[in-house]
Amino acid sequence: MNDNILRIAIQKSGRLSEDSLKLIKECGIRFDNGAGKLKTDATNFPAEILFLRDDDIPGYVEDGVAHLGIVGENVSEESCKDVDTVHKLGFSKCRLSIGVLREAEYHGVQDLQGKSIATTYPRLLEQYLKSHDVTADIHEISGSVEIAPSIGLADAVCDIVSSGSTLLSNGLKEVETIFRSEAVMIASKHLSPVQQDLLDQLLFRIKSVQVAKN
Ligand code: ATP
Ligand code: ZN
Repeated sequence: MNDNILRIAIQKSGRLSEDSLKLIKECGIRFDNGAGKLKTDATNFPAEILFLRDDDIPGYVEDGVAHLGIVGENVSEESCKDVDTVHKLGFSKCRLSIGVLREAEYHGVQDLQGKSIATTYPRLLEQYLKSHDVTADIHEISGSVEIAPSIGLADAVCDIVSSGSTLLSNGLKEVETIFRSEAVMIASKHLSPVQQDLLDQLLFRIKSVQVAKN
């Protein structure tokens, strides 16, 4: 493998994609992102961009297949992969929240004791419940979490919320926020000296872009 270039993994298509691409471009890195491409070379910086599913990014960075990645902190923390979070990027802000049926009585997190909760974030949920001395039955499902209470699959859900409208339209109310997230840059723990230097240059540019915006 070439130790003299940085491989940067970003989401192929989704809520992180546009801002991730914009950030890289604002750092002055030029590349051709022809539709459907999974990998592209930067033309004026020793970097390659990989376009992946966001869930796969922490694993690729841990393995060193990608040296840097842009993902939601929610995904990075849930993955428990051994990577460094090197910078918070300020976009794709959202929260991981618990919701229960609108008509359910809810006084506090203790009310979740013994209940079943559907989520795609079992680890973050488990940590949260543990820190509040609550034991619940966590059902890991991979999507359409919000429908679970209304079809009797679970008493509550734990999912990503930004405006709260998805919860509302599924007859749920948001009762606890367990994690606040934004896009972060993660890095491999096994960078070569050249890659570390390229990362430092990139971070300097990112910080300059952020300062210019504020
Ligand atoms: P992929 O196909 O790459 O797996 P995905 O469907 O898992 O995509 P997206 O919905 O594109 O993921 O969300 C990517 C990230 O954007 C989330 O992990 C989260 O950090 C952030 N995000 C911001 N707002 C929202 C929102 N309203 N709903 C879901 N995720 C959001
Ligand atoms: Zn995903």
